[in-house]
Amino acid sequence: MTTPTAQPLPATSRGGPMIHVQEDREPTLLVIGGGIAGASVAYFAARSGWAVTLLDAAEARASDVPAALLDPARGQSGRMDVRALEGLRLSWSLIRRLEARGHRIPHEHNGVLRPLASDLARAKFERHLPPELPHHWLTAARSPAPLAPGWPHLLLLPEGGWLAGAALVTALIAASRATVRRGRVATWDAHTATLAGGEVLSAEAVVWCGGSIGATWGGGTGLPTSGQTHRGGTLLLLDRAVTPLPVSSGVYLSPIIQENGQRGGVLGATFEAPAPQCNVGGPALRSLNWLLSRASALTGNLSSTVTGFWSGSRLSGERFGQQPGGWWALSGLGSKGFLLGPLLARELVAELSGHSSGPSGSPRPSSPDG
Ligand SMILES: Cc1cc2nc3c(=O)[nH]c(=O)nc-3n(C[C@H](O)[C@H](O)[C@H](O)COP(=O)(O)OP(=O)(O)OC[C@H]3O[C@@H](n4cnc5c(N)ncnc54)[C@H](O)[C@@H]3O)c2cc1C
Repeated sequence: MTTPTAQPLPATSRGGPMIHVQEDREPTLLVIGGGIAGASVAYFAARSGWAVTLLDAAEARASDVPAALLDPARGQSGRMDVRALEGLRLSWSLIRRLEARGHRIPHEHNGVLRPLASDLARAKFERHLPPELPHHWLTAARSPAPLAPGWPHLLLLPEGGWLAGAALVTALIAASRATVRRGRVATWDAHTATLAGGEVLSAEAVVWCGGSIGATWGGGTGLPTSGQTHRGGTLLLLDRAVTPLPVSSGVYLSPIIQENGQRGGVLGATFEAPAPQCNVGGPALRSLNWLLSRASALTGNLSSTVTGFWSGSRLSGERFGQQPGGWWALSGLGSKGFLLGPLLARELVAELSGHSSGPSGSPRPSSPDG
């Protein structure tokens, strides 16, 4: 693919280079990486009038997680990201909009249950939960899921739920009508991406959304290797759902819809030690032991059969916006890729579009599906 070469780049009052676009065509965008970050950028960019080409190696994609929880109070600290509620509502509304247009995204929007083991743990959550986040405190006797004894406090977050990661990504990419190229980008800069085979693609702007594997491969001018950590985890696939809704406390149990359409389940966590690079080799035996012991502390007897496993690596240390090399980035979404990825992608596209000087000062609107 060859696109017209971009014009010289005058500096804007906001410091970044202005993206200059010819009057008679859509501005072009290369998105590197097709996980939830790249798919969301492609989707919102297409809605803002960019002609998007998505370049994805489709290797070690954390976003293929079989059940991603939309849990606004993720983690054990009780702290909530300030944008969590906004992100949660955007992700659900995207799913509704995509499903209304015929995309199938297995999900259930029926809450997340957080069992807490002590009064102290409850106090931490109570301190941090914002009043605008709907939540209920339940006793064990009123638990909507079977739990082992020893959980004095249950926090029910009714706006939470689970979704099939790969299905949402696929739907976003299809709705964006992006041109998809399968392959690894070896290097990139503000206006070009060079594929591993040597082909050079160019566009008005480049957004890197490489996730854990992409940060390990490197390739962008100014892509730092420090300040980001990679963390592996595994989901065991179960032949049946152990709980009717996701239950999360260090590990999580969630229903899924299996490929045959039957209800199944997962038990998982991101539990491997933080590492300097991506490693998705599968779970260590001692990790499996830990996972199973945490699960039995949570629910007692698992009473389901393990049918397989899925392993992934997530990257922490958020990178958002224009980078010193002139290209843009959305990456390092940690354990909140599905909670915050679409929201941050929408904001990144708004910023990127603000740098574009088309005929009306912004990319022309178009109406891709969704
Ligand atoms: C076990 C586990 C459980 C999780 N549970 C949850 C959960 O419950 N809720 C939640 O919100 N999040 C969860 N996460 C985190 C979530 O999966 C990630 O935050 C999210 O998927 C990251 O998305 P991404 O698009 O940044 O990266 P990825 O999904 O990893 O996508 C990156 C893509 O870019 C491609 N790529 C990289 N570099 C290049 C290149 N140079 N050229 C071409 N292609 C490239 C890769 O091959 C890959 O396809 C979990 C993660 C794990 C590992």
